[in-house]
Amino acid sequence: MGADRAAQVRAEIAELLDRHGLSPRRSLGQNFLADPNITERIVRTAEVGPGDQVVEIGAGTGTLTAALADAGARVVSFEVDEGLRPVLDEVLAGRDDVEMRFTDAARLDLGEALEGGPWTLVANLPYHVGTGIVLDVLRHVPQVTDIVVMVQREVADRLLAGPGSKDYGLPSVVVGLHGDARFAFGVPPQVFLPQPKVESAVVRIRRRPAPPRAEEAIALAAAAFGQRRKMLRRSLTEVLEDPEAVLTAAGIDPTARPEDVPPEGWLALAEAAAEATS
Ligand code: SAM
Repeated sequence: MGADRAAQVRAEIAELLDRHGLSPRRSLGQNFLADPNITERIVRTAEVGPGDQVVEIGAGTGTLTAALADAGARVVSFEVDEGLRPVLDEVLAGRDDVEMRFTDAARLDLGEALEGGPWTLVANLPYHVGTGIVLDVLRHVPQVTDIVVMVQREVADRLLAGPGSKDYGLPSVVVGLHGDARFAFGVPPQVFLPQPKVESAVVRIRRRPAPPRAEEAIALAAAAFGQRRKMLRRSLTEVLEDPEAVLTAAGIDPTARPEDVPPEGWLALAEAAAEATS
């Protein structure tokens, strides 16, 4: 399958939108995936098949949705844009393995919306809500055990960054606390309709059991990264009574900055903070 097939799929998506009187809405991050090679690569990366439950956020024109169902998975897909309903009715007609829910996934309690489990989240995420959804799922939706998402390349870099790197921040800490993450592959702008200005990347995260005090660790990291340039003994004064003592008890240099502390360091700090107040 080569350039011809990709050109054909691109033309089909353009024709589909046109026939329904629609054009992609930038405000909703509508950059539709128009290359079947990439769609299939995402499905392969997710390793889903018969018996698996997949949640997708942002069905768009249903390309990835249909490919996931074709692989044998049961798919629940959320789409905020009601205008796409007739397109999706057409593309997904006759499928009983896909359930469309037209709602704003960023405002939804996904933990409540998804019964049972395990679920795999597979999505070409809308740029404006992508990071928030991934972090929210990791923190609050334990029945989602695997995540395979396409995001902006720079978002991928932030999710995957390790301590000491300029990209290391709160998203990296949340990912590091809850899962094992890897870069799957890079995606150029040309495969989308319309083309975004930036590169994209597919990231895979496998959930690990949540460590105790993960939320306390995230709250401490959030406070410190909120004042990234300050030493920890200064940036944590609002959330810890005696930051210097607690940092020392956790084995962290009080003059360090937040980018120096690995995810397990934030856990140690949360532990030391709990002991200091007990
Ligand atoms: N999955 C499709 C594909 O790969 O071509 C569409 C991907 S497009 C990047 C993102 C989709 O997410 C759009 O269809 C957009 O309308 C939808 N979307 C944006 N914000 C959303 C939200 N808060 N909840 C659910 N869907 C949303």
